[in-house]
Amino acid sequence: MASKTGSCLCGEVEYELAEEPTSYGACHCGMCRKFSGGIELGIQVPPGGVRFVPTDKLALYESSDWAERGFCMLCGSSVFWRFTGEGPLEGMFSISAGTLEDMSGMTFDAEVYIDHKPDSHSFAGERTRLTEAEVLAAAGVETGDDG
Ligand SMILES: [Zn+2]
Ligand SMILES: [Zn+2]
Repeated sequence: MASKTGSCLCGEVEYELAEEPTSYGACHCGMCRKFSGGIELGIQVPPGGVRFVPTDKLALYESSDWAERGFCMLCGSSVFWRFTGEGPLEGMFSISAGTLEDMSGMTFDAEVYIDHKPDSHSFAGERTRLTEAEVLAAAGVETGDDG
């Protein structure tokens, strides 16, 4: 079973989820590729669904007009993406799944920005796959920028 707790590599940034996470998805957009250093795997968590242990090592980067990203300024781990715009996703977190203490028992159920995926790799198996346009429509975002 997956844990509700997670942290960055060095342990300075720690969090606890309100609910046990059951699934995660991959984002293939160019910004998540750079943020994660590979493929960003995220757990969707509603606003208020995560509590961070107070620390001055959690840094925020405003990556677009409608999203910010949190990372550890000591070890550099990518900890989360957060929707800061208005609309149905307002305040939604995508917690980097790899920061969980234990990822076992979870389902890998979605891939987004599938049209931005490098052609040199792809995940096997069946799951929901959404293009950039489909993601932006669902989020109510009109810009074509990555988040
Ligand atoms: Zn750290
Ligand atoms: Zn992305």
